[in-house]
Amino acid sequence: MEYSFDIGPIRPPSEAYSLLIRATINCPWNRCKFCHTYKGERFQLRPVEEIKQDIKTAKAIQDNIIELSWKSGYGGRVKEVAGMVLNNLSNEAFRNVALWLYAGGKSAFLQDANTLIMKTDDLADVITFLKETLPSIDRVTSYARSKTAAKKKPEELKKLHEAGLSRLHIGLESGYDPLLQFMDKGVTAADHIKGGRNVVESGISLCEYVVLGLGGKKMWREHAIQTARVLNEIDPAFIRVRTMTINNRMPLYNELESSNFVRSTDEEIVEEEKLLIEHLECDSNYVSDHITNLLQEIEGKLPQDKGKMLAIIDRFQSLTPEERDNFIIGRRACMYTRLDDLDDTNKRQIVERVINRLGQGSEHVDDETIYSLMEGFI
Ligand code: SF4
Repeated sequence: MEYSFDIGPIRPPSEAYSLLIRATINCPWNRCKFCHTYKGERFQLRPVEEIKQDIKTAKAIQDNIIELSWKSGYGGRVKEVAGMVLNNLSNEAFRNVALWLYAGGKSAFLQDANTLIMKTDDLADVITFLKETLPSIDRVTSYARSKTAAKKKPEELKKLHEAGLSRLHIGLESGYDPLLQFMDKGVTAADHIKGGRNVVESGISLCEYVVLGLGGKKMWREHAIQTARVLNEIDPAFIRVRTMTINNRMPLYNELESSNFVRSTDEEIVEEEKLLIEHLECDSNYVSDHITNLLQEIEGKLPQDKGKMLAIIDRFQSLTPEERDNFIIGRRACMYTRLDDLDDTNKRQIVERVINRLGQGSEHVDDETIYSLMEGFI
């Protein structure tokens, strides 16, 4: 249990079972108004030898779990032992390795916010060492910024792909320049397109993240249309959507307080998502894998599933106002996962009681209460 290595604060939900290796620390930009993750923390590149030491420690933990499986009569069957020790560990690194082994030991995610900023040779060296040291890994992914991807030469990205970099996760957030500027994202739509195309053309799979509601009441329409335009030009393998949630650790909170930013309601964000999907003409997988999304069942492969996805929005918008209110509160109180849950009489009655309590006797819950419920998600 003395083995340990540093683990960063976040990874994408799709990397929940990945081995987490912190190749860089914090975010080199760190100015986006809607993001609190690394605020107040200084970005650091790590020496390659230090990262390799963490990989060696992960290997030592793996060996330790294998040894434990022999000693405890599991004959080297790692999954069973990893699953057993998982819930009894206070050591975060040991726990991460156990979880990774439990899931098959195939995937690794390089943290933190923009690993691509490392020198290409150094990053390729780290990925090669990772795959040599832990040969069960057949998928290596990381976060990157569009600006950094736009600056990399095509041959550099190809080199990283050949070293084993399988996927990059990029926060596109929006394709609308005035909104990107307002949010201090530090990139333009043109940077997003160049960076995204560079990644796609290198053979590295690309996942672009979009924030629904980012434009607020003022810019929602342009946000939806221009984001679709940029995504169409990039044609990433995956588009993942998240819904804007604000807390007081974000610079955006001050804009909200001074009324420079006015939030969209859930119903307005559904209209925005409809506009976004209507304008998408790429071949991407549209994924809604975040609890902040009201209609998390809107998922599919574009373009063939577009009609099916829009039909979910039509169904929501065709509900009575009372049913829509009920569904919104049911989602925000984590009672519902999909529209069909409205047919569950038990759940619906519980949600009615929640509405009554939150609305203090009225049948309507105000927007501020809904926003504060959402804050609990981040
Ligand atoms: S680049 Fe990403 S991690 Fe850095 S501040 Fe912006 S959203 Fe946050």
